[in-house]
Amino acid sequence: RAKATAGASWLFFDATMKQAAQARLEVEQALGRALAAGEFLLEYQPKFSAGTRQLCGFEALVRWERPDRGRVSPVEFIPAAERTGQIKALGGLIIAMACTQLREWEQTLGGALPVAVNVSPLQFEDPLFAERLLEQLRAHELPPGRFEIEITETAAIGHVERVLPQLAQLRQAGVPIALDDFGIGQSSLTMLRQLPIAAMKLDSSLITPLPASDAAAIVQAACVLGRSLKLEIVAEGVETPAQATSAEALGCTQLQGYLLGRPLPAAIATQLLEQALRKAP
Ligand code: C2E
Ligand code: MG
Ligand code: MG
Ligand code: MG
Repeated sequence: RAKATAGASWLFFDATMKQAAQARLEVEQALGRALAAGEFLLEYQPKFSAGTRQLCGFEALVRWERPDRGRVSPVEFIPAAERTGQIKALGGLIIAMACTQLREWEQTLGGALPVAVNVSPLQFEDPLFAERLLEQLRAHELPPGRFEIEITETAAIGHVERVLPQLAQLRQAGVPIALDDFGIGQSSLTMLRQLPIAAMKLDSSLITPLPASDAAAIVQAACVLGRSLKLEIVAEGVETPAQATSAEALGCTQLQGYLLGRPLPAAIATQLLEQALRKAP
């Protein structure tokens, strides 16, 4: 009867909903198959100390290699995995892969540098998330501090009561926490007080316009803030020499971006790490 009275627009709405549900189901099934088939892998983007430009760590970034369609960007499938809830399984896999790589570096190179893993807020819905992560680090015999986590401002904000105690637990156990994409969320300054963070990563939207004076003023102010809170301040998305020298001059302590290094397959990251460890054991 509703159909009869509401007419064509109801039918249209119904069709759209059906389509959305269908699309969601397809993504869910594709992600499920991909998890089972082991189609996810990590790339490692290097981070460098400002000034010396020495390698100081990596950020792990997930990739989905689809046999039929090639590479799918995390920007596409992470939000999808968050919608379906599969981010919990995927996030667990990502942590396990990063731990395995760190352990391998530890064993074959006799050392390593910290690897940062991006964590979705939904992963904290598991009240034992921090516990399980620490258990994995112990199982892989990783020194505390080798494994870092990155969370986004928006991620942290919506779920403070759930996220905060677990972050405190991780921090206390020696796992550094970085606030990712700083400068594009809301309420950044309050977050800086609330969260037990060791680093802030200035979003590329603040770094790209450097050395323009308005962007420089904002980056400088963020660096003053970060320094007084004793945080590492990472410039994200550094693509030009001018951006790099400007970010350094304004007080960023680490640089990351295509200028200095793209996300690398594990084998190439291993070579880079080996060189760095040989230079400064
Ligand atoms: P993010 O954590 O802010 O990572 C930085 C993104 O910027 C990465 O994109 C990286 O490849 C890209 N990037 C780095 N340097 C440059 C540069 O100089 N220029 C430009 N144009 N881009 C640069 P990617 O790998 O596509 O990842 C996008 C986002 O997806 C990440 O942003 C992160 O929010 C999310 N993501 C990636 N891997 C994971 C993961 O393992 N777990 C979760 N939960 N999220 C992830
Ligand atoms: Mg990140
Ligand atoms: Mg980032
Ligand atoms: Mg960013």
